[in-house]
Amino acid sequence: MMYTSTRASSASATAQPGVDAPFFSAILLAGLAPDGGLYLPQTYPQVSDAELTAWRSLSYADLAYEILRKFATDMPAADLKAITSKTYTAAVYRNGRDGEAAADITPLRVLERIGAGAGATSLLLQALSNGPTLAFKDMAMQLLGNLFEYTLAKDGAHLNIFGATSGDTGSAAEYAMRGKRGIRVFMLSPHGKMSAFQTAQMFSLQDENIYNIAVDGVFDDCQDMVKAVSNDLPFKVTQKIGTVNSINWARVVAQVVYYFRGYLAATSSNSEQVSFTVPSGNFGNICAGHIARMMGLPIDKLVAATNENDVLDEFFRSGVYRVRKSAETYHTSSPSMDISKASNFERFIYDLVGRDSARVRALFHKVESAGGFDLSGKPGSDGDEWKRVAEFGFLSGRSSHRDRLATIRDVEDDYGITIDPHTADGVFVARQFMAPGVPMIVLETALAAKFNETILEALGQDAGRPAGFEDIEALPQKFTLMTTDVAQMKAYIAAHTGL
Ligand SMILES: *Cc1c(COP(=O)(O)O)cnc(C)c1O
Repeated sequence: MMYTSTRASSASATAQPGVDAPFFSAILLAGLAPDGGLYLPQTYPQVSDAELTAWRSLSYADLAYEILRKFATDMPAADLKAITSKTYTAAVYRNGRDGEAAADITPLRVLERIGAGAGATSLLLQALSNGPTLAFKDMAMQLLGNLFEYTLAKDGAHLNIFGATSGDTGSAAEYAMRGKRGIRVFMLSPHGKMSAFQTAQMFSLQDENIYNIAVDGVFDDCQDMVKAVSNDLPFKVTQKIGTVNSINWARVVAQVVYYFRGYLAATSSNSEQVSFTVPSGNFGNICAGHIARMMGLPIDKLVAATNENDVLDEFFRSGVYRVRKSAETYHTSSPSMDISKASNFERFIYDLVGRDSARVRALFHKVESAGGFDLSGKPGSDGDEWKRVAEFGFLSGRSSHRDRLATIRDVEDDYGITIDPHTADGVFVARQFMAPGVPMIVLETALAAKFNETILEALGQDAGRPAGFEDIEALPQKFTLMTTDVAQMKAYIAAHTGL
């Protein structure tokens, strides 16, 4: 299994292995491909009916192994198996609601079932937030931490992860990398702008390899600093700087697993289909669903649910992809979906335009130069591939603050479950696309405790917290306050990497 870039020139697609067509291990620590594109397998591995049947009885860890080994063919099987067993254990995924089986890792809950038997209309919720930071990003990041540690130990190498966070990504990365040999994490966050819970989660980590840097500015300032440091190639090389952002291929592929798991848990025969609704921002989570479908998983519809930042909903409804300027990006009550462009979208567009990398290159250069592209097929547009969106099963919808609050209240009243604001966007949109005979699974993206301010507004009471998180704000906090001075930041990193 070799990989290619979504922007590969035809020459590089046939170049020697290891250079332009690398294996899994070679792209594990990589971000963008050198040509600016994103990595994808040269072809999607297929899952047979017999395999899918055999997978029905596997544990989550063993299922993850079976799926990952199709993508990581250059890793020794026993090593991969040891890593997936260590990653997906009940001890790590124990923060669910009372009575939820931690060993299931991603348990399904029935919210609604109308009718009976094969023709029932049902709405299910797949719990993905029972990991250490109470958001679905743990599902992939925990695997990444173990894969990184394994790869670095093999070469006796070091990696210094440098990133910016508005909350969820940074904490998932820190909890995945804490105490790992060969790895340090330098994480920037806007000082005083994260929720009290998120701040406490990150800053209470006392591990020596975790460096929390609170920047006197907003999230965009933090991101600009990461860009400035990353653009200094000599610094990046000598200081062994890497990232763990959402375009990382291993993160995407780790997420493919829970689509299989959700499908297998919701069905009893491979002739059945399910649909998924996915709260979306950077198109990472739902991109994994697209890949599961391309591998042969019987998914009927993949529904992208956005908030007021509806870049993706606009595309799926009209064929026009129009990125927003940062001033046009709303700060909403589902803040982890407040994005101006969807960084993983290029992977889907590559498949939509028939894996024509020259077209992808032209379209995404147009995103840089003109702020977007138009595949509606209308006169003057850049193509008509939008008409193929239905073949890929995609649908979409958007939610607003009012919809979000009303949905949190409804779900609490009707089913006694408190959902977080992002998951509420998913439930709100999913309800518009339910169909008899095809279970609709909403992916839960965080626990409500992480976003208590909005829960309080919706319900007039606090969200419950899993055991062990009751007094997290009272723990001692460790962080360094810095200004937006890039030179000072570099000096700080260099002083702490010891390189
Ligand atoms: C990251 C995140 C999302 C968006 O996921 P994408 O993969 O970027 O589409 C949604 N909800 C929560 C809580 C998140 O942390």
